[in-house]
Amino acid sequence: MAQISHKQLRKFLAPYKITAGKKFRLDEFDPADTGGLGSEFKGNAKELLAKGVDWLADAQSKLYAQNQWGVLLVFQAMDAAGKDSTIKHVMSGVNPQGVQVTSFKAPSAEELDHDYLWRCIKALPERGRIGIFNRSYYEEVLVVRVHPEFLAGQQLPRSLLTKNIWKQRFEEIAGFERYLASNGYLVLKFFLHVSEQEQKKRFLERLDQPDKNWKFSAADVKERQFFKDYMKAYEDAIRHTAAPHAPWFVVPADNKWFTRLVVAGAIVDAMDGLDLHYPKVGARQRAELDKARQLLQSQ
Ligand code: ATP
Ligand code: MG
Repeated sequence: MAQISHKQLRKFLAPYKITAGKKFRLDEFDPADTGGLGSEFKGNAKELLAKGVDWLADAQSKLYAQNQWGVLLVFQAMDAAGKDSTIKHVMSGVNPQGVQVTSFKAPSAEELDHDYLWRCIKALPERGRIGIFNRSYYEEVLVVRVHPEFLAGQQLPRSLLTKNIWKQRFEEIAGFERYLASNGYLVLKFFLHVSEQEQKKRFLERLDQPDKNWKFSAADVKERQFFKDYMKAYEDAIRHTAAPHAPWFVVPADNKWFTRLVVAGAIVDAMDGLDLHYPKVGARQRAELDKARQLLQSQ
């Protein structure tokens, strides 16, 4: 971001970026962490975010022109952690033609008639574009793990339903992300880490504030009883799928201003590493451009 150096940005992101999962423990991460910045920094954070958003708009336009790399941003979180508003804020400056957001809900009958990656593969961004997955194939080792009845509904042959299924899925997902990386996709995964107390507070706001009532879902409140199971499932998923080519970011999500800063910073840092530039025009193309100019001027 413009006012902080690349080195500072790296240092800022380091505590949240997981590239190897073996030693990862979720309880070492505080959802209320603000990187030592007090709430008086909120104004600066807004300014920095705006700079990051501008930078991203420019990078996305080069990504599109170059048409080589693709970018996949995966967002996972508990309800009310702020996925939607983070996506909205961080992508606010980007040309809508270059970005596609796909939200993955409980699978349809048609989706259940296929392998679990099918619907996600169909939604992958083309080269030159940014694809955002609002939930993703990770649900297959999160909600499906917490609620085994979903697994039972997946029409898998019985002989394949062994106790190794989660390990297998981790390997499949890790393999899929490796495949994407070696095909020119930048894969970044964000876990917006909200605390149980903050989630409760946000649900109560949805009940108390009329303009937030529409967001309230009684099912989400029921799902809270599985909070700890979800945290275990997230920890295990991150442990098995964090990699240098597909890092996880465990983003503190109790303070929205900080969540947005970390997410924007992570995307800026990673896209900066792609060496994006507008395609250079060679001598032959230049001659053609000159010809076109002459033709236009003579008309
Ligand atoms: P919001 O509530 O902000 O609209 P959301 O992502 O929570 O966003 P919902 O429609 O409320 O959207 O929830 C989608 C639900 O679908 C989640 O509870 C999620 O766990 C569930 N889901 C997603 N993928 C699967 C899957 N493969 N199997 C079963 N459930 C899934
Ligand atoms: Mg929901």
